[in-house]
Amino acid sequence: MLAYTYAGPGLFELKEKPKPVLQEAQDAIVKVTLASICASDLHIKHGSVPRAVPGITVGHELVGVVESVGPTVTSVVPGDRVTVNVETFCGTCFFCKHGYVNNCICPDGGWAIGCRIDGGQSEYLRVPYANQGLNRIPDQVSDRQALFVGDILATGFWAARISEIGAEDLVLILGAGPTGICTLLCVLQRGPRAVVVCEPDAARARFVRERYPQVTVVGPERVWETVLERSEHGGADVVLEVAGTEESFRLAYECARPNAVVTVVALYDRPQILPLPEIYGKNLTFKTGGVDGCDCTEILRLIERGELDTTPLITHTFPLREIDKAYRIFEGREQGVIKVAIEP
Ligand SMILES: [Zn+2]
Ligand SMILES: [Zn+2]
Repeated sequence: MLAYTYAGPGLFELKEKPKPVLQEAQDAIVKVTLASICASDLHIKHGSVPRAVPGITVGHELVGVVESVGPTVTSVVPGDRVTVNVETFCGTCFFCKHGYVNNCICPDGGWAIGCRIDGGQSEYLRVPYANQGLNRIPDQVSDRQALFVGDILATGFWAARISEIGAEDLVLILGAGPTGICTLLCVLQRGPRAVVVCEPDAARARFVRERYPQVTVVGPERVWETVLERSEHGGADVVLEVAGTEESFRLAYECARPNAVVTVVALYDRPQILPLPEIYGKNLTFKTGGVDGCDCTEILRLIERGELDTTPLITHTFPLREIDKAYRIFEGREQGVIKVAIEP
């Protein structure tokens, strides 16, 4: 079968590999029906994910059909259409039991698929702990509707969930890349009073403005005054930082009102410094880290009910054989690309 492979720093290549087989009792083999490219794949390509194992098949955002399951898999059966979770988690350790699946202590725990074990930019993949890692897609939900459930949409859902958003709140979202837009959709779901999105890229800003007219979109130079105009308390009630730059980190705590929740979803290239002497009295609550991706059933239900739709994010579709071209467009942000779908 064809598999897009991390050959070494800076190099991915499409190769022939043997079809995966069941190895553990909790494994499932999934036939990929649609995959996507994530910014984290680019991080592997550029060598900024030291855990990534050379030779592995990349890709961790996909949907497919269950082909076979190990003897202790009970949540899905062969033939089921499923979303694959970016995170691998055992479901039984201390962290899993508390819903903190990002910190699962099992050897494959956390981001393993498409990083430490073979992933989904291929025709088939093996999913460990399939009872946790796969979610059945409702019949009425298409592959394109479900494509982001296990990764960027799970991230947006988790970020909105932990941010304690109320009906009176002014919410500021920094960054309108694919994860920023997923975060926006999940924030809107929670019905806050107003949402401001800060995005410096003109094409991305336009994308949000055109599709979500209820949202105010500004560049970083105008975000502070825009937030102040809309707040009676000197800043945003909730800030979600999904951009990952030095500037967006600074804006996150500057634009927050005292006692706000600041949720940092972004991953930074370098350490960021919080000027605690200056903001000591602001009494901010920071929430940070990687997605606890255990809400996929609920996300799929919202999609089924028509309350969440990420299909507009899929701006391009390529067959697996042309994945090099798909990466070039995604990486170069050509042709107004937001997300690329890959068909095996
Ligand atoms: Zn990802
Ligand atoms: Zn666990």
